[in-house]
Amino acid sequence: MSDNLFNLIASRTADPQKIFLTTPEGRDLTYGALFAQSGRFANVLSALGVKTGDRVAVQLEKSPEVIALYLACLRTGAVFLPLNTAYTPHEVDYFVGDAEPALIVCDPTKREAIAPLAEKYRVPALETLGIAQDGSLVETAHDASADFATAPRSKDDLAAILYTSGTTGRSKGAMLSHANLASNALTLIDVWRFTNSDVLLHALPIYHTHGLFVATNIVLLAQASMFFFGRFDAKALLQAMPRATSMMGVPTFYTRLLGEPSLTQDATRHMRLFISGSAPLLAETHREWAARTGHAILERYGMTETNMNTSNPYDGDRIAGTVGLPLPDVALRVVEPETGKLLRANDIGMIEVKGPNVFRGYWRMPEKTAEEFRADGFFITGDLGLIDARGYVHIVGRGKDLIISGGFNVYPKEIETEIDALPGVVESAVIGVPHKDFGEGVTAVVVTRPDTALDEATVIGALQDRLAKFKLPKRVIFVADLPRNAMGKVQKKVLRDEYREIYAQG
Ligand code: AMP
Repeated sequence: MSDNLFNLIASRTADPQKIFLTTPEGRDLTYGALFAQSGRFANVLSALGVKTGDRVAVQLEKSPEVIALYLACLRTGAVFLPLNTAYTPHEVDYFVGDAEPALIVCDPTKREAIAPLAEKYRVPALETLGIAQDGSLVETAHDASADFATAPRSKDDLAAILYTSGTTGRSKGAMLSHANLASNALTLIDVWRFTNSDVLLHALPIYHTHGLFVATNIVLLAQASMFFFGRFDAKALLQAMPRATSMMGVPTFYTRLLGEPSLTQDATRHMRLFISGSAPLLAETHREWAARTGHAILERYGMTETNMNTSNPYDGDRIAGTVGLPLPDVALRVVEPETGKLLRANDIGMIEVKGPNVFRGYWRMPEKTAEEFRADGFFITGDLGLIDARGYVHIVGRGKDLIISGGFNVYPKEIETEIDALPGVVESAVIGVPHKDFGEGVTAVVVTRPDTALDEATVIGALQDRLAKFKLPKRVIFVADLPRNAMGKVQKKVLRDEYREIYAQG
């Protein structure tokens, strides 16, 4: 039997008339129409020479047709390779050279800029797809048959390659199999109780695991529906909320929604679940959200390479500042980074995971892949954290964000939590900056409320009784905003680069 993820999706579709998605412009797309379009696209892909195992690189603005194209790739046995829409042609050059796709699909407005890359790397085909159901791919597909015999795939065959954001060094292509995607979506449907009565608010980008796999695969496999927004717009989401049941968002969605006076208990009455992930949700946001809406946000943790690993419980305590419990089919442990020795409850170390969710390795990087796996098959996530006495996982930050000051380990999250609790502080990021005496100097970058007059001495003074001396920030810098990427992650590398000279005088 084929393990093609598309077959699994199709096998769960009882009613082709069921609405798959609705756009804010009022466009409805049924499951039947989605599958028909995926069949047409699959026929076009085959006619263009795309074969099983070939990569199809896409850099496309969010539209329902991109989902149809994703399904078409599954159906032809090709490997879907979405690229961040913010990447410049100069950046896309690397991905095309690395992935050697058989086809590139880009926005009609980018064709001219991408064509030289296609030529440079001898990519056999370049097509376009726009957000107004336009572009060469749609035009050619118009006359194609909607029937397509889905290619058989085995569970370890690749369904997609997603490049990691690559904050250090080159971006790596995470190879995800049909079984990686299917197993994780089915597990999440179970633990988050998704059914065909659900209507998800979808405002995430679909070049990233969160919007593409967590959100879209769940909807598809649960035969649910979604409101499909081109981008996040707090007012538009609030307008749709009375007709929705669930939302998946990054923390900034929640903070922006909290800025809307119309976010009330009444506005969220029809909702059963708010999920957050991709970046840490401030405990304060969790509390404010509960106070305003009566809903406890459910925070979960995952990454491109592993799909989702942990989740706060559906029933039971959703604990602010934690990412919950390992998913039922995921083994998760915390070890000493250097030795791999298992640590006890509450000890901070490297988070490692193993399960059907974990990727097949980095594209054409066998050495890098081998480095990131232990001999017993556990993947070294690069995230530092702990498991508390109740089994809840806490993330204290990326390993590369760990600060070593005067030989002591300083975990930024601990300092950030203390600073965030100070009156007038909105949020903070603690980084290590080169320091001639200490190796790295603990440095706090802080955002305050507009009506607050906090200064460096007050912040340091307030922390003095609460933190060991080696953990105290040596400098506190006040900024209007923290730099974030599209998924709401604070870009600490940008901050480290910006402030790398501040201790230059000793
Ligand atoms: P990405 O591969 O872009 O999805 O990024 C994955 C990384 O995001 C993880 O390795 C974590 O460092 C971080 N991350 C994801 N979810 C959470 C969360 N709920 N809390 C803290 N960090 C998270």
